[in-house]
Amino acid sequence: MDKYIVSARKYRPATFQSVVGQKALTSTLKNAIASDRLAQAYLFCGPRGVGKTSCARIFAKTINCLSPTPNGEACCQCENCKAIERGNSVNVVELDAASNNSVDDIRDITDQVQTPPQGGKYRVFIIDEVHMLSSAAFNAFLKTLEEPPRYVIFILATTEKHKVLPTILSRCQTYDFRRITIEDMVDQMEYIGSQEGIKTDRRGLEVIARKADGAMRDALSIFDQVAASSRGNITYESTIENLNVLDYDYYFRLVDSFREGDIPAALLTYRDIRAKGFDSLFFLNGLADHIRNLMVAADPRTAELLETSKDVAQRYSAQATSLPLQWYYAAMKILNDADVQYRTATNKQFLVELAMIRLGQLLKPATPPFDLVDREIIPLGDITCQAQAVPGPVANARSTEQAPTVAHTPVTSHTPAAPHTQTAPGPQADTHIVRKRSGISSGFRLRDSDTESTVAQYAEQRKDHREAVTIEAFLEAWTAFRNANPQQHILSSAMRNSDPRQTAPEEFLAMVGHPAEIQAFELAMPKLLEFLRKELRNDHLTLKVDIDTSRQVSKQIPPQEFLKECVEKNPLLGELLVKLDAELS
Ligand SMILES: [Zn+2]
Repeated sequence: MDKYIVSARKYRPATFQSVVGQKALTSTLKNAIASDRLAQAYLFCGPRGVGKTSCARIFAKTINCLSPTPNGEACCQCENCKAIERGNSVNVVELDAASNNSVDDIRDITDQVQTPPQGGKYRVFIIDEVHMLSSAAFNAFLKTLEEPPRYVIFILATTEKHKVLPTILSRCQTYDFRRITIEDMVDQMEYIGSQEGIKTDRRGLEVIARKADGAMRDALSIFDQVAASSRGNITYESTIENLNVLDYDYYFRLVDSFREGDIPAALLTYRDIRAKGFDSLFFLNGLADHIRNLMVAADPRTAELLETSKDVAQRYSAQATSLPLQWYYAAMKILNDADVQYRTATNKQFLVELAMIRLGQLLKPATPPFDLVDREIIPLGDITCQAQAVPGPVANARSTEQAPTVAHTPVTSHTPAAPHTQTAPGPQADTHIVRKRSGISSGFRLRDSDTESTVAQYAEQRKDHREAVTIEAFLEAWTAFRNANPQQHILSSAMRNSDPRQTAPEEFLAMVGHPAEIQAFELAMPKLLEFLRKELRNDHLTLKVDIDTSRQVSKQIPPQEFLKECVEKNPLLGELLVKLDAELS
């Protein structure tokens, strides 16, 4: 039986022709050799595993070959070629500067430079990772690099060109190696598979190439590993299983769920991914990559940035065309926020689930219970925003963190989310305010002029409900919301005592006895309104909350006192406040 040789070694390129993914560069080198215009020093730059050292060896072999082929390649048969391939030619000296970077190591090289070639025309000194040389070693090397003997050629290689001293750079002819494309790597692995009797599937090979991140050498060792464990049959399934790669089918499926507003399906997919042992942050980043790929695939001009095989590219563009462009920005913002918050989140799974729910609400209104999550239809990147207030006794808008100081401070509800829906303008309609965005969501629907038209399109898709509302139905929905949020003690008690009244066909008024209750309403207003509008099938319904001054006289206590009172009644609230780091004093 033949001795097993790893593919990276067995298929190491022997000629310029067989170097993968560097066609332009290798043909330039070949031409230089053919026309006998050789520089004394070359610098090969590029990421690891792209063929720098291989090209340096091929170069050394070609210029010393005793009978080069008509198209300028080494014969690989003559004595010189064979000695270089075996690695025992005195004409080729290799130094790995990553581990040999002292002045003495360089002295050894500069001494050797004095010995002329044997049996060939040139002595080639290959210094790998040249940026790793110590500065003393650099200096010792510089003199030799400036005036080497005529028969000496230096080939310096580096993964970090910016770390190479300018004095060295200026003395070298520089060649920049490209990252090898996925397509090129897949072709090469397919070729090797055909030579080795290994069955391959291009989707599987693509997963390998992606994992290798542009390095052919890495791709081939992964190839060997997968070939061995899949008994010579590299399929997509065997590859993702072997490499513990998350199947991109999951991402396609998730985006389908987001588009359809199918939040339960998205949450179940996320659960399946976790069950397979994938880390949530890894998953978030993978999903962000997927969305980035979709965005790139959406425009034919950027489609070439999509580094993938043709059939996967087609899948991307098919899914991409099913989504409006605005969706990508909103989705990427949600994922970016989740990524930023991930490290500090105590419940990471919940954070990701919340992001899934938000993503699922971008295009379609959610069904209960997910409709109670803040919906951000448009990106909220801008710190300034515009809110439209409906006419009220005093259309007063203020930031949520500000404590109410005036007794008569009604909380007004605002126009429905959709900009195209209009409420009848009143004396003080269209109060425009500009304010800093606070961390707490308020009843304001934020707008961004750039996205307005797209938002209007979304709104078009969402049906506008406007059914007649009775006070009985309103009170029923009112109670249902209160029962669904028993943990919000202040709100719950305020709702119980507020005695809501119908002041107009689509307008309701609730009276409370204390500013802290106003604040509780204000915080809950977006969810409360959304709930009421949905339950009562009327998107134009508005709610005002006002202080009942008659009640207030008897309850003239500052908010802290009021909170203390509440805590005494509800020990749970006290615990909650401690968790929220709120101050009672
Ligand atoms: Zn030869």
